Order: sequence, then structure tokens, then C-alpha cells
Amino acid sequence: MNNKAKVLIVEDEPTISNFITTSLNANSYKVIQCVTGKEALAMIPSHCPDIILLDLGLPDIDGFDVLKQVRSWTSIPVIIVSARDQETEKVKALDLGADDYITKPFGTSELHARIRTALRHHNKSESGAGQHLSKYKTKDLVIDFNKRIVTLHDEIVHLTLIEYKLVSLLAINAGKVLTYDFIINKIWGPFADRDNQILRVNMANIRRKIEENPALPQYIFTEVGVGYRMIEDE
Ligand code: CA
Repeated sequence: MNNKAKVLIVEDEPTISNFITTSLNANSYKVIQCVTGKEALAMIPSHCPDIILLDLGLPDIDGFDVLKQVRSWTSIPVIIVSARDQETEKVKALDLGADDYITKPFGTSELHARIRTALRHHNKSESGAGQHLSKYKTKDLVIDFNKRIVTLHDEIVHLTLIEYKLVSLLAINAGKVLTYDFIINKIWGPFADRDNQILRVNMANIRRKIEENPALPQYIFTEVGVGYRMIEDE
């Protein structure tokens, strides 16, 4: 489906750039490369890539500034590919509008999965299909957005309104990590307490209801210090 999608790699380390290029070419992606932030900003409007893999540590401008500039005019998917693995950096990138964040070193299958997810979400939101998602299904969990019902092994899961809103928000964005702030803003509004306690309590309750073993979740994963990611629907 997304074969032949054009990927722009913004990366100043040739070994990494070539490694990613080889693996993407082998999977039918078209790849273009550049080394600096300025080149990236010039290439995006002229080459119209479908997705950007952006390193943060670039020789000229910081990757965050490239991201900010890109986001000022386009919603093209951006995945940060960085050696910086501090949680604050990930949160900052996601809150600045990055679609995802992957830390070096990483496996190619993980990278490909993240690219597919970002492209799919982008295509859905461009076509408006995301708004009309009627069902989410993965493994034994089904969410019927029209009926507002969650079932597990065909049995109704009794969720509070807040719990339902949380699960739905994560399911509509399945595969993407949502930051704590983003979730709190969406569920409790912009004036809610930024402390994550209420979110953690609700998430613990959800996990008790949908996860066989809440300590080893199979539906909603914790990205420590960053947020939550729900497994992709099937
Ligand atoms: Ca670098």
C-alpha cells in the first residue's frame, strides 16, 4: 500500500544514513538523503517526501529547529531518529509535532513498523478516515466507537466515561506514542493539573480491566517518562 513512499533521511553520519537507505530500498521505498538542516528545509518543498527521518544532532541547525520550521507549514510525518534518549528530549520532540521517536541503535523491523504506522495515520487523517473509524480490534479486544462499547473475549468491559475516553483516544492513535500532556489536555482540558497522578490512576484501572497481567500489558504500553502507546489494530 505504501510501497514507493518517498523517504527523506536527514542525517550527518553516512554509515547510519546508508544503513537506513539500504534497508528501505530493499523494502521498495524511494529514498533521498541530506546531511544538514538547511538542506532538509530546502529539499522538503522541492522533493515533496512522504515522510522525514530526522536526526537531532545536525552540523548546522538543531533538529528541533528543523522540526519547528517543518511543522509551521506542513503535517508531513516526521520520525525523530536520534542517539539522544533522554525522556525530556522525546517529550519535547513529540510535543513539537514529531509523529514518533526512535533511538539509535535500532532494528530495521522496528524502523519499518514506525514508518508504516506514521504513513497510515497521516493518510487516514488526510482522507478524513480517522474521523469515521467505527471499530478498533486487536487480539481479544474490540472497541465499537459507535456504540461506545469495549469488549474483551466478547464480554463487555465496564469502563467509566473517563476510562472509555482514554482507551478511545489511544486506540484512534494506535501505534503512536501519546505524551502525558497531550492525553491530559485531550481528556481533562488545558486547565487540568499537569501532574500525571490522575492519568496514572485511570490507566491502572483500565489495565486491571483489560490486561490479563497489568504488569506485562499486551494492549497499552508505557513509554517510561514519555506517555502511552496502544498496540496497532489488526
Ligand atoms: Ca548526528
